[in-house]
Amino acid sequence: MTLLEGSVGVEDLVLLEPLEQESLIRNLQLRYEKKEIYTYIGSVLVSVNPYQPLPIYDLEFVTKYRDYTFYELKPHIYALASMAYQSLRDQDRDQCIVITGESGAGKTEASKLVMSYVAAVCGKGEQVNSVKEQLLQSNPVLEAFGNAKTIRNNNSSRFGKYMDIEFDFKGSPLGGVITNYLLEKSRVVKQLEGERNFHIFYQLLAGADAELLKALKLERDPGGYAYLNPDTSRVDGMDDDANFKVLQSAMTVIGFSEEEIRQVLEVAALVLKLGNVELVNEFQANGVPASGIRDGRGVQEIGVLVGLNSVELERALCSRTMETAREKVVTALNVTQAQYARDALAKNIYSRLFNWLVDRINESIKVGTGEKRKVMGVLDIYGFEILEDNSFEQFVINYCNEKLQQVFIEMTLKEEQEEYKREGIPWVKVDYFDNGTICNLIEHNRQGILAMLDEECLRPGVVSDSTFLAKLNQLFSKHTHYESRVTQNAQRQYDHSMGLSCFRICHYAGKVTYNVNSFIDKNNDLLFRDLSQAMWKARHPLLRSLFPEGDPKQASLKRPPTAGSQFKSSVTTLMKNLYSKNPNYIRCIKPNEHQQRGHFSFELVSVQARYLGLLENVRVRRAGYAYRQAYGSFLERYRLLSRSTWPRWSGGDQEGVEKVLGELSMSSEELAFGKTKIFVKSPRTLFYLEEQRRLR
Ligand code: ATP
Ligand code: MG
Repeated sequence: MTLLEGSVGVEDLVLLEPLEQESLIRNLQLRYEKKEIYTYIGSVLVSVNPYQPLPIYDLEFVTKYRDYTFYELKPHIYALASMAYQSLRDQDRDQCIVITGESGAGKTEASKLVMSYVAAVCGKGEQVNSVKEQLLQSNPVLEAFGNAKTIRNNNSSRFGKYMDIEFDFKGSPLGGVITNYLLEKSRVVKQLEGERNFHIFYQLLAGADAELLKALKLERDPGGYAYLNPDTSRVDGMDDDANFKVLQSAMTVIGFSEEEIRQVLEVAALVLKLGNVELVNEFQANGVPASGIRDGRGVQEIGVLVGLNSVELERALCSRTMETAREKVVTALNVTQAQYARDALAKNIYSRLFNWLVDRINESIKVGTGEKRKVMGVLDIYGFEILEDNSFEQFVINYCNEKLQQVFIEMTLKEEQEEYKREGIPWVKVDYFDNGTICNLIEHNRQGILAMLDEECLRPGVVSDSTFLAKLNQLFSKHTHYESRVTQNAQRQYDHSMGLSCFRICHYAGKVTYNVNSFIDKNNDLLFRDLSQAMWKARHPLLRSLFPEGDPKQASLKRPPTAGSQFKSSVTTLMKNLYSKNPNYIRCIKPNEHQQRGHFSFELVSVQARYLGLLENVRVRRAGYAYRQAYGSFLERYRLLSRSTWPRWSGGDQEGVEKVLGELSMSSEELAFGKTKIFVKSPRTLFYLEEQRRLR
């Protein structure tokens, strides 16, 4: 046990004294400076991104952490993975590993470390190894299509991911299921300065041989594509060419056929080429503005690439058909509308391709029915976000984090309560911040913000982002967690600093101001039917399959679910899933904004600690007893403090512990003797014991 080595701070924040935000961050900093990136809060693992390769993940470490129990070695991600896996295998308890933190904090790396640890210790044999390979190889595929360079992270996941890994009764992997959340599809058509589009485009251009490029009708230079930022085609330390080979081999291992890989690349090429379709002003005979395509070659190439009549594509891009019960009216789109339609199409094709990839991987790794399995879920999902301008995306991301916080507090308290019950110790009531009202404000079935948004999207008549906002302001004017310029806050003041098109939510992690501009549009997420019908007419089997609603026979007038309601229902499923499992938490922290090793910004980490609710976590965790330990291990460490137990002790473990603590005249308030463990209320008592040990 090495919980209390002074020079590197405490290994478990539950033992922090005094407990404040400041001391908590200082402790993380002290440890970070000694390259100790992991710290516990009870069984929760806090991880600070080292931004450098550390020699702590090789086979030697895997073996060490496999053979010891949780607190016996230094905090490590392998200790958490090992505890989860063993409890799944030996006690038949399904597990989930929830990894949160902001962009660049190390979530995806952590999820891969967990997966590789579990792969290293579970099962043997050819069949099992091939399942492991498939599961591991899903990572490079999803990263190629779902990750991108952003200002904050050169390999940023632009989607949320939950993966269930399924095991047989012996603990050997059988397969899995991946669920993806909300791909940031706006990136397909536009990126901020210094950012890139999804990796796949650069990998394809750098890695495809001349023949493939020619067949896809692409030029090698990324600078020639309107959808790729010209100034950032290369990323330091990232080899797009090599990664393209890695991608192809990963797809093969998973079981994609050569033909499927080819079709996927064709659809990716289609997206790039769509971006280069240049739309220009035209006028109809009556002088009404319309649009056309400047140079027909691009559209013709697209037509050849995916088996589509280029005239029809042009028509679908530049006009819109309105259908009523009696007639069809075709209207011309002006240039702005046509550009909007083109970009909407590109975004739709890409995000549907991504969903298809996830489904296709799932098909390969799925487990046959009938077998009873044990499950380990791994969640790698975007953390709480407050940007300068917060829109619909931040709203749903923060909603998801609000729900995760709710699960976290409820399950941590429940776990504490259960441990006390198991050990026969009376429960101590804990005060904590219940964020149920905030969750309700957002997700209530009839009167939540998401429901209001849906209602506005479906309502006939003139709707706009501002009618939506007006509705919220009216409905929530008295809600304690809702503020806007026209509603009064808790101090009964109007807030004039907020933009007219904004509302604010007081989240558990802090206040966030959302701008309602384009909420309706993003929630509707509609594609003109002309475009889906055109895609469906393509001879390309994959592209065509992505647009089933384009089939005129299928085309009912039923509206697809809105983006918000889809997200809400996947969050609800996720929460159910988490509640049914034993949770393990990894809280990732980014030490600085520059992706730099060795630099720890106190302010930046403080903000993240707040978003992650670390202090609240420590408080809840030690509301009853800060520290607990099995009698055997406790006695082993402290028996030198008593003449009765040192140098020899032949009685039982609990009796030995009672002797040691009795001799030190500990206050009985401080201690509770459970069935298998000793519980200590305050860290001070433990420090005292440590001090005594040092003096011997
Ligand atoms: P995003 O939300 O943007 O996807 P993330 O939390 O998933 O961010 P990662 O991509 O996991 O962040 O980590 C960012 C980078 O930090 C990695 O590419 C890697 O360079 C470095 N990194 C993260 N964790 C570790 C680690 N344990 N050891 C060494 N380097 C790490
Ligand atoms: Mg990531």
